[in-house]
Amino acid sequence: MTELSVTARPLAERVVYIPRMNYGCARMMAAAFRSLQIEAEVLPECTPDALRMASAYISGDECLPQRVTLAGMLWVVSQPGFDPCRTAFLMPTTHGPCRFGQYAPFFRKVFGKLGYGDIMILSPSTSDGYGAFGVYGSEFLRTAWRAVVVGDILLKLLLKTRPYERTRGATDAVYVDALDRVSRALARSGVTHRDRLRGLIQSLGEVRDAFRSIPIRASGSRPLIGGVGEIYCRLDEGSNDEIIRHVENYGGEVWLSGVVEWVEYTNEVVVLDLRASGQSFSLARGAFELRRLIQRKDEHALMEQFREDFRGYEEPADINEIFRRSLHYLPSYATLGEMVINTGRAVYLHEKGVDGIIDISPFTCMNAIVCEAIYLKLSRDHDNIPIKVLYFDGKARDWDQDVEMFMELVRDYRGRKHQKRDVAFPS
Ligand code: SF4
Repeated sequence: MTELSVTARPLAERVVYIPRMNYGCARMMAAAFRSLQIEAEVLPECTPDALRMASAYISGDECLPQRVTLAGMLWVVSQPGFDPCRTAFLMPTTHGPCRFGQYAPFFRKVFGKLGYGDIMILSPSTSDGYGAFGVYGSEFLRTAWRAVVVGDILLKLLLKTRPYERTRGATDAVYVDALDRVSRALARSGVTHRDRLRGLIQSLGEVRDAFRSIPIRASGSRPLIGGVGEIYCRLDEGSNDEIIRHVENYGGEVWLSGVVEWVEYTNEVVVLDLRASGQSFSLARGAFELRRLIQRKDEHALMEQFREDFRGYEEPADINEIFRRSLHYLPSYATLGEMVINTGRAVYLHEKGVDGIIDISPFTCMNAIVCEAIYLKLSRDHDNIPIKVLYFDGKARDWDQDVEMFMELVRDYRGRKHQKRDVAFPS
């Protein structure tokens, strides 16, 4: 729900700030807002100074993504000319087992105390059918879903190319250009969904060619590390101390879980809720399934031209593929949250023949703590694949020793593993 004072301005008269969780995805989401002629920007990268500023408002129990997001918001508030009546912060919410559902109420409380109760905290939730988007609802949701899908595609291209580039920085440069190009296609306003899709497919084709033209050496030859963990921490370089680049510096390649699987997971939770409330065959269920069908169609259309590029990196057909694999450890019908996804995904990654798995999570994240307890057995059940949980608390530290030791285990496992990759790559 979005709470506003009676004098509040509508969304169209505000700038919407998007949390940085995966910069690329946030850029795409900002473009989705612009397609409705709503101004939108990505929250700035979190700096130690901004984190210090945020620490004045926290008790110490908050999760890292909560602190990082608050820090970005406070930076916006501290800018000259800031107007609470013209500001909105996007902060999706959910019900579930962990602290994520507390983020939006917490931010409201902080800004209320600061006298900025007119700031809009735009808090879409699956449980109210994304009512927070108001009149923009279905129009926005379709474009936002496409934004998430293309954000994941671009991230995947970046991570599978960068470790093999001949010129340092070449892939990052192509990625930044790709973000500009695709967000322009996404942000076009006044066009039909069909035309926007056509434009997106065309710009993605150009991006694919640009990535393919980056000079590389021995693509796919490095040990492949599956990256799972808490969604914000694993995807935000500022929160995870650029850990992916550390792994690359030590000779690895990372296949990181994106945002799509989380959206699919929340969709499945809606189905479980409808079932629990006796609405399995209701109008609400019918409308939901229709939306899911359209989402899958769009996803398929956007992914189609990358079939060759993502050979060996195929995502599960749907979230039930993940649930099926987590069943033995954390059944989805009895457990909620990312711990279900991460355990199921770890099994999936093993089947795809990765050489090791890292879980990138915030310090004290309950999902990660549960997963860490399970990974030991999961590894034993799967050829003793190396799995390491890396915890982050917002302070920069030296990761070299951890990564170096983990990569030793990975190389050893690679030499003896039974589960080979289903695509032949040079070794
Ligand atoms: S998943 Fe972990 S970090 Fe994220 S809100 Fe839940 S407990 Fe906090």
